[in-house]
Amino acid sequence: MSKKVKIAIIGGGVAGATTALYLGQRGLDVTLFEKESTLVSGPPFCHLHAGGNLYREISDEQCIKLLKQSIDFLRFYPYVVDYRPTVIILPISDNSTPNNLLARLDLLRDEYQKLIEQDVENQVLGESKNYYKCYSKYEIEALKDRECVTIPKSSDEWMIPVAKNIDLDKVQFPLIIVQEYGLNLFRLSAGVSLSLEQLDSVTLQTNTIVHNIQKDCIDDIWEVSYIKDNHSHKDKFDYIINATGFRTGKIDDLLGVPCKSMVEFKSAYVTRWQEHLDRLFPEIVFHGERGTPQGMGQFTPYPNGYFQLHGMTNDITLYKDGLVSNSIVSCQPNLNRTFIEKIDKSWREDEVIERTINAINHISRFIPTFKTAEVGSKPLFGAQQIPGDDPTLRVAEVSFPREKYARCEIVKVSSVLDMIDSICKEFKLFGSIERTVSIEEEEISKRAKSIATDRDYPASLASRNISQL
Ligand SMILES: Cc1cc2nc3c(=O)[nH]c(=O)nc-3n(C[C@H](O)[C@H](O)[C@H](O)COP(=O)(O)OP(=O)(O)OC[C@H]3O[C@@H](n4cnc5c(N)ncnc54)[C@H](O)[C@@H]3O)c2cc1C
Repeated sequence: MSKKVKIAIIGGGVAGATTALYLGQRGLDVTLFEKESTLVSGPPFCHLHAGGNLYREISDEQCIKLLKQSIDFLRFYPYVVDYRPTVIILPISDNSTPNNLLARLDLLRDEYQKLIEQDVENQVLGESKNYYKCYSKYEIEALKDRECVTIPKSSDEWMIPVAKNIDLDKVQFPLIIVQEYGLNLFRLSAGVSLSLEQLDSVTLQTNTIVHNIQKDCIDDIWEVSYIKDNHSHKDKFDYIINATGFRTGKIDDLLGVPCKSMVEFKSAYVTRWQEHLDRLFPEIVFHGERGTPQGMGQFTPYPNGYFQLHGMTNDITLYKDGLVSNSIVSCQPNLNRTFIEKIDKSWREDEVIERTINAINHISRFIPTFKTAEVGSKPLFGAQQIPGDDPTLRVAEVSFPREKYARCEIVKVSSVLDMIDSICKEFKLFGSIERTVSIEEEEISKRAKSIATDRDYPASLASRNISQL
């Protein structure tokens, strides 16, 4: 591996920032360009997806890959994971049954066991025999009478608030608890920024927009033009890594490469439930058919009574015309102006209130007392890229449509390490870690809270549940 090789990474989301950290730790000369003032400011993420149990429609192969990728991700970013399990519930109205999920859960449990046998350090989701557990109506009724505990340590303890708050007449049994954990985007933003700031081999160019790239074919070098502080600059690089998220197509257009991709705008809503300020809930997923009024509901807990909600219906998380494909004339899918305004400027307050209330009502169908929840802050939202033309695709990494050019298109953040592995193989960037970075928990926590408040979110969203401490 030549240390003289210069690498430009465009886009400081999870894909670009993690690549910069990985290569920077190996002493490579990396420049990371990010148009915003801080890293990891793109679309949100709150689920690790270790097994893809939120997606009934995807293949077993995608689920197994998500399990493996999530374990790698959790080992790379241990401070980002929120160790709260997920409870999977099928409403009475659903046309499938919980028992139909069990074959896949058995498969995932066995795959997890195999990964542990390959490397004991892979045991990051607890013991494989506890990967999931089913609860009958009788068992749930019994848990209803138990006191909630401040720091749940077992599946039974996590299930107590579920048993006490769910409308048991509206759901099918068994309820299933699975070791699907959460992710904290503000802690990732904080941790990766603090790490990169320690690496001399990485040049961080925030508040910087890359607007042109040209190939100098004589010297076989890329010329990158960018704007920083209202001035245009140019620099030369051996390799380009395009990690610009939903704007990937714009760089593809500059390079004239073949492409096929989609972009989807989605949002999740932040609510505050005053009655449950200090009660620890697990994540709860209510399955339902995507795009219908019964679309899946996701109830994601944060400390201090904050809950983030998704509802896979067109008046909550999804949008009419929110999913668009690229055209023959451009690699960049053309997202409607109203979505771009939300991303680049702001939301209308009435829309925040209306959609957040829709989300609260959606979840209150199964947790009736949640009806008293209120708007907690502006939504978490963004547009995500999906390569190809299958909108249900959940595992994707990177392609190389031109020499010395990598196009990153992750759909789930946990795919990022497989993505980096492919880039290193393609560009022959082999080498071992020269510089490890260490950051104190206190520093991560402080920076994460300041990032959250600077972006107008409650500082509580930057905290993990206390159960893991
Ligand atoms: C509502 C919602 C919920 C989601 N939940 C989850 C979840 O629970 N779990 C999960 O794994 N995934 C989730 N995702 C998907 C996840 O957010 C994305 O897969 C991930 O953030 C993509 O990261 P990225 O680094 O590829 O792109 P981005 O985070 O979009 O990063 C791209 C960066 O490039 C910068 N950029 C763009 N153009 C330029 C330019 N010309 N010059 C300089 N910088 C530029 C942008 O400012 C941006 O920071 C969710 C997505 C949405 C929309």
